[in-house]
Amino acid sequence: MNILERYAAMDYDAAPEARNEADAWLAGRDFSKSLFIGGEWKAAASGGTFDTSDPATGKLLAKISDAGVADIDAAVTAAARALPKWSVQSGYARAKILYAIGRAMQRHQRLFAVLESLDNGKPIRESRDIDVPLAIRHFIHHAGWAQSLEKEFPGHKPVGVAGQIIPWNFPLLMLAWKIAPALAAGCTVVLKPAEYTPLTAILFAEICQRAGVPKGVVNIVPGGPAAGEAIVNHPGVQKIAFTGSSEVGKIIRKATAGSGKKLSLELGGKSAFMVFEDADLDSAVEGVVDGIWFNQGQVCCAGSRLLVQEGVAEAFIAKVKARMAKLRIGSPLDKNTDIGPLADRVQLERVSGLVTQGAAQGAQCWQPDCPLPDAGYFYLPTLATNVSPANILAQEEVFGPVLAVMTFRSTEEAVELANNTRYGLAASVWSENVNLALDVAPKLKAGVVWINGTNMFDAACGFGGYRESGFGREGGREGMAEYLAAKLPLGAAIKPAAPETVSGPVKADAIGIDRTPKLFIGGKQVRPDGGYSYAVADRKGRLAGEVGLGSRKDIRDAVAAARGAKGWAGATGYNRAQVLYFLAENLASRADEFAARLSQLTGVAPKAAREEVELSVERLFYFAGMADKFEGRVHQPPARVVTLALNEPVGVLGIVAPDAAPLLGLVSLLAPALAMGNTVVLVPSHAHALAATDLYQVIEYSDLPAGAINIVTGKPGELAAVLARHDDVDALWCVADADTCRLVEAESAGNLKRVWTGNGRDLDWRADALSGDAFLRRAIEVKNVWVPYGD
Ligand code: NAD
Repeated sequence: MNILERYAAMDYDAAPEARNEADAWLAGRDFSKSLFIGGEWKAAASGGTFDTSDPATGKLLAKISDAGVADIDAAVTAAARALPKWSVQSGYARAKILYAIGRAMQRHQRLFAVLESLDNGKPIRESRDIDVPLAIRHFIHHAGWAQSLEKEFPGHKPVGVAGQIIPWNFPLLMLAWKIAPALAAGCTVVLKPAEYTPLTAILFAEICQRAGVPKGVVNIVPGGPAAGEAIVNHPGVQKIAFTGSSEVGKIIRKATAGSGKKLSLELGGKSAFMVFEDADLDSAVEGVVDGIWFNQGQVCCAGSRLLVQEGVAEAFIAKVKARMAKLRIGSPLDKNTDIGPLADRVQLERVSGLVTQGAAQGAQCWQPDCPLPDAGYFYLPTLATNVSPANILAQEEVFGPVLAVMTFRSTEEAVELANNTRYGLAASVWSENVNLALDVAPKLKAGVVWINGTNMFDAACGFGGYRESGFGREGGREGMAEYLAAKLPLGAAIKPAAPETVSGPVKADAIGIDRTPKLFIGGKQVRPDGGYSYAVADRKGRLAGEVGLGSRKDIRDAVAAARGAKGWAGATGYNRAQVLYFLAENLASRADEFAARLSQLTGVAPKAAREEVELSVERLFYFAGMADKFEGRVHQPPARVVTLALNEPVGVLGIVAPDAAPLLGLVSLLAPALAMGNTVVLVPSHAHALAATDLYQVIEYSDLPAGAINIVTGKPGELAAVLARHDDVDALWCVADADTCRLVEAESAGNLKRVWTGNGRDLDWRADALSGDAFLRRAIEVKNVWVPYGD
């Protein structure tokens, strides 16, 4: 046998990782008390337990205390008790603890890795080289945020007790993503690991004890969905951070509506892996392996839809198949293993069920011919071709090692296919032409875009989704903001609108000609679809005029117009700035008229009315100036890559404006939304709608593209609900009574739009704080584009 033949005949031998230390930990620990509450180990009050087992063998690893409502209550009480001291401790004191946690994890990193692979089934190479080091980096990175908090986030306070619920696919890493920023911000936490994978969270609690985390600051409560629900519904929790399925994310959105709890949701995905014909195909094949077979495809941002340009599709698919045939499936503790078992039998059944359905809908599902281990929840890597865009394998998150392939001809088609999903977590773009890749990245509706790479994460870079992949970011500056609150200048509680009685003749203009304020949709003044109007009273209850009574149909038209006004989002910041300056100019030139109108409608003294108009102009001017200044950042993660954190408009934004300060309130919300490139459907004050309808002519003169602002007068409560339910509205800001605010939060769950409400309170619209970034931050999504460099 010559050397070449010998080389070809060589095979891998088993290279098992030692598990004795993990076995000793499992054998030596008293799992009958595995809830970590107030710094003590406790059994569940009910005495209940659940099993956690090794998915590679099905064998029991431990019986874990199963937290119930009483245990969650005890944990929240402990966290609330620890909060006052922890939150006022110096940032340096908190930083030292975060650092100690990171270092203590480093000292036990192999134990963490082996336990993670045993409990979850992920190959040891992944837990050892990716999950655990990244988790450690999170704690060490966030030590710096703790210490610099006052300088970096002036005027911010910790939100309070954070309830954190995580899934089973990255048990330790998700824990780190949640706990590190919370502790850095000065919050205390109650964290529930997933029911299939509690072990590394329990080990982490031991680390907290060793690292000197004060009692009650970190509480770990293993349990199932009922424990999660108890956290979500607990009145002592001020922040919910959830990672899991979009389905449960929507339940949580509804459950927290009206509660005032701060909410971040990191949910599912159906991310596109786009291979252009000029890509380095061999690198892209390795990218595919990492994109969809990393952690058996149980990755929220898995590149589960392969979009490949037609000219190279055949060659590329052949290369992928050849590579798939070489993937090694087996024990997660073998260092040569590429693919381990799925995390549980339930997951195995779900994956195979979806593949069967996909095949029934016409997909051709190919699997390499390699043996599967006898026991355990293994599933062969699967390649589905002939997949129509409507196929279940193209639309549903499989959360398994299944890759659906589609082809495209042009860049436009590639972008269209990539965005043809209700999700928006991540995308991967492969092309040797960086100009093309950087042109495509901003067009993708995804929170993270990797260029010539995939599944890159770092503690300094935000991670999170668009659309139904949830809202909020984890990591870096944006992630810190999720655990901090900056108080908005609150005003009075808003009462539900009372029916008005208005009488008298319609007031004609000065020379006696009747005026008919309509709706403003798509750049035109249009009559309301229903053909009804309502009376607007002046300050004495007399009829000041009649305005259109907008309905669901008008909102639908307005949303369509806003969606169609693509030029506004695509305009440069400088261009948007000039248009907003011009709007301010035109409003200023009619200041007397607007001031008179405000006095007429609200009864404010002429001087105060004039001030409101002047402040509205000033605010427009301020946000015009911000249009080209509220920019993104560049991160330098510890790799040969730069990460561009780009501020992008959220999309179509609904605004329900206040009655108080009917011009200034409206402008204070409208201006930041427009400055960041959103298009707006505005429901103005009901009582003082004429202050808004007078704006039509100002807008018409101001070079705003048709559809960038749409104004629908009518009953705000009703129209707010329509906006909240509308699946083509991306965000909603609502100033209304408490019931309306709760309703819109609950109704927004359909497409998980980003909602801000005043929770039944008005704002002090004159406050300086509103000329700041409070609404600019809410008017953007941060997209992180990863650009590797070097050969
Ligand atoms: P899941 O939603 O079923 O469960 C997630 C967690 O929520 C578990 O701890 C579970 O016990 C708990 N839970 C279940 N029902 C609950 C309820 N009604 N109230 C409160 N808590 C409840 O999701 P899963 O199957 O465990 O995880 C897989 C999902 O997680 C996938 O959709 C995946 O994409 C997503 N995920 C997202 C990210 C991200 O950052 N976007 C990261 C990892 C996983």
